[in-house]
Amino acid sequence: MSEKLQVPRGTYDVLPQDADTRVALEATARRILEGAGYRRIETPTFERTEVFARGVGASTDIVQKEMYTFDDGGGRSVTLRPEGTAPICRAYAEHGMHKLPQPVKLWYLSSFFRSEKPQQGRYRQFWQIGAEALGSDDPAVDAELIVLLATLLSELEVGRVRLRVGSLGTLDARHAYRERLQAHLRDNADRLSEDVRSRIELNPLRAFDSDHAGTRAVMAEAPLLLDQLDRADAEHFAAVRELLLRAGVEHEVDPTLVRGLDYYTRTVFEFESGKLSAQNAVGGGGRYDGLVEMLGGPATPGCGWAAGIERILLASDGLPVAPAPVDLYVAFGGAQQRRAAFALADEARRARMNAQIELAGRSLKGQLKHADRIGARYVAIVDDETTVLKDMQTGEQFEVDAAGVVARILRERGMR
Ligand code: ATP
Ligand code: MG
Repeated sequence: MSEKLQVPRGTYDVLPQDADTRVALEATARRILEGAGYRRIETPTFERTEVFARGVGASTDIVQKEMYTFDDGGGRSVTLRPEGTAPICRAYAEHGMHKLPQPVKLWYLSSFFRSEKPQQGRYRQFWQIGAEALGSDDPAVDAELIVLLATLLSELEVGRVRLRVGSLGTLDARHAYRERLQAHLRDNADRLSEDVRSRIELNPLRAFDSDHAGTRAVMAEAPLLLDQLDRADAEHFAAVRELLLRAGVEHEVDPTLVRGLDYYTRTVFEFESGKLSAQNAVGGGGRYDGLVEMLGGPATPGCGWAAGIERILLASDGLPVAPAPVDLYVAFGGAQQRRAAFALADEARRARMNAQIELAGRSLKGQLKHADRIGARYVAIVDDETTVLKDMQTGEQFEVDAAGVVARILRERGMR
C-alpha cells in the first residue's frame, strides 16, 4: 500500500453527518432571506485579481498576504475568492443590475479561500453565508440586514451573541480622520508594537485591533472617527440605531470597530459569540457606498454582511440533524430475485418514497438486521411468487402481490 493521502493543511472534508447539519442551516437561511426578498447569487470561484486588489483594498491583510493568486495559463492573474462582496459588486456592474428595481437584494452560500494560519475556526477554505443589498442608501437597508443576521443567528441557536456597531462616515471623512490618526501614532511611535509602527502609513486603523499593551494605551488616547462624523453621516447612523432598537436588537456602539476591508463607509457591525474563544467573530459587515463604482459600475450605494459557517456551527447550541427517513427497505433472498427487487425499489422511489435496496449480498437475516439499524419503516422481502411486507414498527407481516406492494404501503401510511 502506498502512503495514505490527506487533505491540505487548513482544509477539511464535510462528511455526511456534517453535511446533514449544513443542509439544515442552509434551509433556515433560505427561509429567512428569501422571505425578505433576497435572491440567491453564485459568482465564480475565481475572479480576476483586480476585483479584490481594487475592491478589498491594497493595504488590507487579505490582499497583502491572504490571497491565492495564480496565472490562468494565458498570462492573466486570477485569485481564488477570499470574500463575496467585491465579486457581487462586479456582477452588479457587469450585468447592468442598476436597471432593475432598487435595491437589488442578493444572498449566497459559498466557499472562500484565504491563506491564513489554520486553527480552530480559521481555515484556508471556509464557507460563508452572506447577504447584500445594492442601490439604496436608506438606513432601513442597514437595519434590515442587521436584523436578518440577528434572526438567523438566533434561529440557528448561536449562543451568547454580542453585536457591536459603529460608523466610519464617508470616504472623505475617513481620509481626513486617517491623517489625524497617523499624526497621533507618529507622535507616540516609541510606545507602539513593531507591527503597528510598521503599518502607520499603510493601515493605521488596524492599530485599534492590537492587543499589545503599549499600543492599547496609545489607542485609548487616540481621536475617534465616530466623534467627527459630519451631520448627514451622524443622522444616518442614528437612524440605523433607532430602527435596531425598534426591532429589539440589542447592540453596543463601538467607536473603535475596524473591519479588515477597506471598502466600508458609514455603518459597520460585527457579531461575536461568547461561546467561541480566540476566533470569536461569527459574522459582520457594513455599508460600502463607493465599491460598485470602484469596480467600474455606476455610483451605487450598497450594504451587506457575511457570516462564517464553521464558526456558526462551533457556536451553535443545537442544529437539527435528521438524516432522511427510510420508508422502505427492499430485501431479497438470492440473485434470481434481484431484478424484481430492483424494479420494486425503483417503483417506490417514483412514488416519492425513500427506498433502499440490499446492495451488499447479505443473508436475509443480515438484511433485516441492517434495515432495522437504518430505521426502515417497512421491509419488503421479495420472493418468486409473493412479497412479504413487514411493518418494522408493529412487527406485523402481510403477504402482498408483487405488483401491489407500493400501493399497500401508501394505503397503510394514509399517504393516499
Ligand atoms: P477575523 O477577524 O476572524 O479574521 P475577518 O474580519 O477576516 O475575521 P470577514 O472578512 O469579515 O472576517 O468575514 C466574515 C466572517 O467569515 C467572519 O466573521 C468569520 O466568521 C468568517 N471567517 C473569516 N475568515 C475565516 C477563516 N479563515 N476561516 C473560517 N471562517 C472565517
Ligand atoms: Mg481575517
